[in-house]
Amino acid sequence: MKATSIAKARERATGEQPFLPFSAPWVGEQELAELADAAGSGWLTAGPRTRRFEEAFAAYVGVQEAVATSSCTAALELALKAMDIGPGDAVITTPFTFAATANVIVHTGAEVVFVDISPRSYNLDPAAVARFLAENCAPSPAGHRVTRGRGRRVRALIAVHYAGLSAPMEELEQIGRRFHIAILEDAAHAAGARYRGRPVGTLGRAGCFSFYPTKNMTTAEGGMLTTDDRELAGRVRRLSQHGITRDGWQRYSAEGGWRYDVVEAGYKFNMTDLQAALGLVQLGRLDGFVDRRRLIAAHYDRAFQSHRELVVPPDSPDCHNSRHIYPLGVRSQRVSRDQFIERLKERQIGSSVHFIPLHLTRFYSERFGFRPGDFPNAERVFESVVSLPLYPAMTDADVSRVVDATLQILG
Ligand SMILES: *Cc1c(COP(=O)(O)O)cnc(C)c1O
Repeated sequence: MKATSIAKARERATGEQPFLPFSAPWVGEQELAELADAAGSGWLTAGPRTRRFEEAFAAYVGVQEAVATSSCTAALELALKAMDIGPGDAVITTPFTFAATANVIVHTGAEVVFVDISPRSYNLDPAAVARFLAENCAPSPAGHRVTRGRGRRVRALIAVHYAGLSAPMEELEQIGRRFHIAILEDAAHAAGARYRGRPVGTLGRAGCFSFYPTKNMTTAEGGMLTTDDRELAGRVRRLSQHGITRDGWQRYSAEGGWRYDVVEAGYKFNMTDLQAALGLVQLGRLDGFVDRRRLIAAHYDRAFQSHRELVVPPDSPDCHNSRHIYPLGVRSQRVSRDQFIERLKERQIGSSVHFIPLHLTRFYSERFGFRPGDFPNAERVFESVVSLPLYPAMTDADVSRVVDATLQILG
């Protein structure tokens, strides 16, 4: 018997509701068939399927180049390395993100500069970015430098499309042009999202997507960098395969040759053909997945938006929101956010919190001297949000169950 039918049998016997996880990947027969094909093909790691997946993803997003990587984290780090960002530089990002967004900046040797989010979008506030640059930076022949500390040069900004709602890219790009700062997109939440009609991943110098199992589509682990900059893509591709001039496919296939050169000390950050097999099928399902996510989010919005103690997540007519997560604000005198999470759990409903602001974590506060109160908008939003279950495999009954539990807990 399959695990799901065991759970169903138990539910019938005991009347107990099975645990509804916060997130679950959607993997169907077609994925399994492609995976088996790839596994039996004689070529397991980056090769023909990875290349096809890159081409299909580039066409989907509408960019010249896509480079498949082992994760979104890897794609972000390679984007920074390919722009020669390192010691002496600074990179701006939001504290209201996953650790990976800032960790990659640290790994290059650059300084992490956090700027607060807007309470209306939960994304980087472009006015706050402009204010930071005007008040803390001075122009130099090489670009804008932070006037305190070691006077690092601000080279890039990583915009995160939080929850699937695009960051205000037009305003950020304007700032980027004025201060010579490259804008990168952390599009981990935003596969299938659009901003003013333009797909996410085409809006900055490069976009980085995640195919982690909780994300909008999955390859188990995996990522993709998208860009129209051929040179950047070429460098990222080379860096993802040790910094050598030919990848494995180019060396070991019939058309290949054994000789290669090491041009720089790269990484081992490539995708495999097994992952690409999953990715090719999942990409075909992406628009359907996003439609389903948007329907569930609209259902939650309708159920919660008139409740005085609940704050529905931001949305904007400018964006086709891919609704990666549903961070509901719980602002009740009687039930704290943490109690709310416990009571959902008692009702066999999983949830999560996205994210603990990075400046409050031990590493970032110790390394860069950040303190509570430094980014008040991120802190205030963090204190109240709960990410409710939201994924295409949820049934309408699952969605109603979450709505009923939420309203019941709040009384
Ligand atoms: C998941 C996530 C990442 C990292 O993605 P991986 O593919 O797991 O490396 C980066 N940024 C954000 C905002 C994320 O949510």
